[in-house]
Amino acid sequence: MSEPAIDTQALDRYECRACGYVYEPDRGDDKHDIAPGIPFAELSSTWRCPVCGARKNAFANIGPVGQASGFKENLGYGLGVNQLTPGQKNILIFGALALAVLFFLSLYGLQ
Ligand SMILES: [Zn+2]
Repeated sequence: MSEPAIDTQALDRYECRACGYVYEPDRGDDKHDIAPGIPFAELSSTWRCPVCGARKNAFANIGPVGQASGFKENLGYGLGVNQLTPGQKNILIFGALALAVLFFLSLYGLQ
């Protein structure tokens, strides 16, 4: 008797795109009596997110534990200047212009 080969896909984690819950095959799902070691793909099609109740197709594969996830990196990227409102961007731009004008005025003032 030999153990069946472990599919690398089997240990991938899946993140609920609705609420951010992450299904980890290593942990299973206590709320639905899913034992640790069950791959996401083998969960029943009636399985729902234990936090928000989203269906399986609302989940995105974010790869195995400890591996950088492009999905997460993209989320982090969006937290920069791109999330500023147009009004906040204007304040930044005019604030920088005002500082530049003050800087040049102070240069003239020294001469
Ligand atoms: Zn959820």
